[in-house]
Amino acid sequence: GNPLISMTNRYCVFGNPIGDSKSPAIHTRFAQQTGEEIVYEARLAPIDGFAAAVRDFIALGGRGANVTVPFKEEAFRLCDRHTPRALQAGAVNTLIFAGDGITGDNTDGAGLVQDLNTNLGTVIAGRRVLLLGAGGAARGALGPLLAEKPALLVVANRTAAKAEALAEHFAADGPVDGCGFTALAGRHFDLVINATSASLGGEVLPLPAGCYAPGALAYDMMYGKGDTAFLAAARAAGVTRLADGLGMLVEQAAEAFFVWRGVRPVTQPVLEALRQP
Ligand code: NDP
Repeated sequence: GNPLISMTNRYCVFGNPIGDSKSPAIHTRFAQQTGEEIVYEARLAPIDGFAAAVRDFIALGGRGANVTVPFKEEAFRLCDRHTPRALQAGAVNTLIFAGDGITGDNTDGAGLVQDLNTNLGTVIAGRRVLLLGAGGAARGALGPLLAEKPALLVVANRTAAKAEALAEHFAADGPVDGCGFTALAGRHFDLVINATSASLGGEVLPLPAGCYAPGALAYDMMYGKGDTAFLAAARAAGVTRLADGLGMLVEQAAEAFFVWRGVRPVTQPVLEALRQP
C-alpha cells in the first residue's frame, strides 16, 4: 500500500447511525491544539458487521477507535483485554489497537465526572445523587460516580428490577440503592442525572414532584438544540441549574485522546466552539 497512508495515525468512531457524530470535529480540534498528527473519521458499521468493520479498519492501519450506539457491548466482547473501568462498566467506548491485540477501555463515566466537577463546578462528595436509567450509560457512570463519595446514590429505572440488579452489582463500591420511579416519592436529591434514552423520543419521565432539592442540578446525558425533554420538564418544575451531555461528550473524547496519545487536550475552547449555533 501507500507508505504515507500506512504511516498516518488513523482513528475513527464506529456507530449506526453515525452521520451526526460530533466526534470527528472534537478529535480534529484536539489534534490541532496539541500538534498530534492524527486523522479521525466517522465510520458506519453495519448492524450485523461490527467485528468485520473493526478488522477492516485495523488492516487500513487504524490505531484506535471510539464506539457508540449500538455497539458498546459487542465491543466489550470483541476485546482481548479490558481496563478495570471497562470491566466495571461491562461496555467499551474506546478501543486501542496494538500488535498483540485489542484493548477495551471506557471513558464515559470519567467524562461525566470530569464535566460535573470541572466544567459545572458541582461537588458530588456528600451529595444525594439520583441516576435515572439502568442501561449502558448508567452502568458506565456508576463506578466513577461512587468513587466521588456521594452521601447516597439511587438508581431509578422504568424496569425497576434492572435498577435493583445494578445497585446490587455495585454494592461494594458505595451507598447505592435501586428502585422504580414511584418509589422516589417524598425523596429529594441534589443532583439528578438522566441516563435514559427517553429524551430521544421527546418523552418525559414520570418523576414525582419535589425530587429536586433546592439548588439541585438537572443533568441530561443527551444533548441537542435547546432543552431536551428532560431538561424542559426540570425547568418547568422550577430547577434553575441545568446541563446537557455535550460537556460529557467532549470530556469522554479528551480522556480517549489521552489514552491513545498520552497528551491531555484542553477541553474548554472545544466545548465553546461546539456550543456556537
Ligand atoms: P440503553 O438503551 O442501554 O438504555 C436505555 C435506558 O433508558 C434504559 O434504562 C431504559 O429503561 C430507559 N428508557 C428508554 N426509553 C424510556 C422511556 N420512554 N421512559 C423511561 N425510560 C426509558 O441506552 P444507553 O444507556 O446506552 O444510553 C442512554 C442515553 O445516554 C442515550 O440518550 C445516549 O445518547 C446518552 N449517552 C450520552 C453520552 C454522552 O457522552 N453525552 C454517552 C453515553 C450515552 P428500561 O430498562 O425500562 O428499558
